[in-house]
Amino acid sequence: MSLKLSRLIILISFMLIAYIPTLQSEDFGSDLFSKVRQPNIANPEAIGSYSKGCLSGGSYIPNSKFYDQLRPSRNRYWGHPNLLEFIDSIAKEMHDRYGNGLLLGDLSMPRGGPMPYGHKSHQNGLDVDIFYEKKPNIEMQRYELESYKPSSILSANQETVNLDIWSDYHYQLLKVAAEHSEVSRIFVNPVIKRKLCNIAEGRNDKDWLYKIRPWGGHYNHFHVRLNCPASSPECINQRPVEKYHSCGNEINYWLNKDKVYESGSTEARKWLLLSNLPKSCNKLVE
Ligand SMILES: [Zn+2]
Repeated sequence: MSLKLSRLIILISFMLIAYIPTLQSEDFGSDLFSKVRQPNIANPEAIGSYSKGCLSGGSYIPNSKFYDQLRPSRNRYWGHPNLLEFIDSIAKEMHDRYGNGLLLGDLSMPRGGPMPYGHKSHQNGLDVDIFYEKKPNIEMQRYELESYKPSSILSANQETVNLDIWSDYHYQLLKVAAEHSEVSRIFVNPVIKRKLCNIAEGRNDKDWLYKIRPWGGHYNHFHVRLNCPASSPECINQRPVEKYHSCGNEINYWLNKDKVYESGSTEARKWLLLSNLPKSCNKLVE
């Protein structure tokens, strides 16, 4: 090999090394976390807050007769074991009582973190979306799970619940979920909260309603958020909800808003930098 050629090879090698991308705190968290396809092996830990955090040692939820996850290609079926236990327990209870399973939406990405699209929260493995529609009693193929679109539970004008769809099943499902000891709060469309309030009023059954929070969007699914697990010292709880059923002003506030059927922009979270997340999240994407 000529001297010139070997110098050229050395030069090119240096240039290649110089161009290997290095992890920088200026990187967008959503870019880094969405590229990781597997969890890290560690004791399970929810880190940071629901909207600024990550998940270490997450587990995935396997489909079963009790639940299926829709759109599995998004790879968002990972969570803290407390979340998986919660889903398992309410799904089995509803299956015992009604004979059907649940349809699940997103949990978290394998190591949590901010998502490039779709949610502000779901970052530390403690949030899950559950559809109102029951899991069909047939085995769904992968392409069906990918494309299935659960229907809205609201009427066409979105001012009431759709009484062709709504049944006591939905009331009981939300109640079973809200009464679970690990649940911090559940987000539902304000029209649905109003419906729950009206029914609960007639039954003198309002004690559990304080955990049901009216929020924009959430018309084909509800969003369950668990409390921080005791074994996750870096997990940041949200302010506890007041033990008040909130059937009055809070619902009216939402119903008077222009965009009650939208859950708000996720853009702000998409652009979270790695340096905006707790330091312990860095090692999950190194
Ligand atoms: Zn959600």
